[in-house]
Amino acid sequence: MFKMTPQVLQNLFSPKATRRYPRVARTPYEGVRGALRNDIENCSLCSVCALKCPSQCITVDKKTATWRYDPFACVFCGICVNACTEKCLHQERAYQHPVTRREPILLKGTLKKTPHEKA
Ligand code: SF4
Ligand code: SF4
Repeated sequence: MFKMTPQVLQNLFSPKATRRYPRVARTPYEGVRGALRNDIENCSLCSVCALKCPSQCITVDKKTATWRYDPFACVFCGICVNACTEKCLHQERAYQHPVTRREPILLKGTLKKTPHEKA
């Protein structure tokens, strides 16, 4: 007990090692691969991101023109961002915000006609 006393006192009067997250968030490091965003107005719903994703957390449905993403299955590797044909996918320099319910992100896009289809 007496052996521990100096350590207990030191811990008691030293600054906290933890933060009151999410109210106090750490400043993300330079180049962090954070929350994934899709500028859906520029998305062609080509499905390349869904095919490349190692976690299979992106689904593209051309019939309903929807892009679905499960942030809870995402490992934030950035492969989909590098593969995106329209450069509409990007990762923010901030971590995914905490939520109380597990819900996927569902975005409604517009199917763009290829030059062949327009003719
Ligand atoms: S960051 Fe990686 S795991 Fe997340 S959606 Fe993109 S490819 Fe999938
Ligand atoms: S790769 Fe890019 S353009 Fe193609 S479906 Fe994914 S987000 Fe949309």
